[in-house]
Amino acid sequence: MKRLLVNLVTALSLLLSIAAAGMWVRSYLAQDIVEHSTVTDTPAGFRHWSYSLATWKGVVRAGAIRHDYSRVTTPAANAQVYEMMLANARSRAAQSAVEPKWRSREAEEWTIRGDHPLGHWGLTWQPLDETTPQHRGVGLGASSPWWFVVLLCSVPLDLRIIGRLRRRRRGRNLCPTCGYDLRATPDRCPECGATPSPNLNPS
Ligand SMILES: [Zn+2]
Repeated sequence: MKRLLVNLVTALSLLLSIAAAGMWVRSYLAQDIVEHSTVTDTPAGFRHWSYSLATWKGVVRAGAIRHDYSRVTTPAANAQVYEMMLANARSRAAQSAVEPKWRSREAEEWTIRGDHPLGHWGLTWQPLDETTPQHRGVGLGASSPWWFVVLLCSVPLDLRIIGRLRRRRRGRNLCPTCGYDLRATPDRCPECGATPSPNLNPS
């Protein structure tokens, strides 16, 4: 049972790594965007949800933001601002409803969307948490270079490969750490000082 689980996780890790590597390459050829935006009425006003996933030029960015606007607590002087926000959110939701969920275009067109300030290495983390009497906004925007995603996805696979190499070395009476021949000194490696666990099935 445990073995099956390990195999499953390793296979999944391999698949995800290949997929992420494919997206990494693709991100230099095209820009892919998945976007969705909805508006719902709430007792006090309206709620605007938007999700997005975008990938281009080696970087993937994801974001989810929720805005709650309250007509009830909006000062009379800002009534127009409220109506504008509502109209804005509705038009974005309407556009999202008719647009295909997954869009692609040529990479150089990215700039017309207005770029996102990316941190060093393309890693960013931008939580949103703001409260005013008439508005509450929460969300998170984050971006990562694809190579980092590939690295993360491949961790179970890497551990498996390292484990296998170590077992193979042990099976051949080589130090699992440095590969030194341990036939003369099976308890302690004279080269690196490692103390390998007893070899249960010598070959
Ligand atoms: Zn050693």
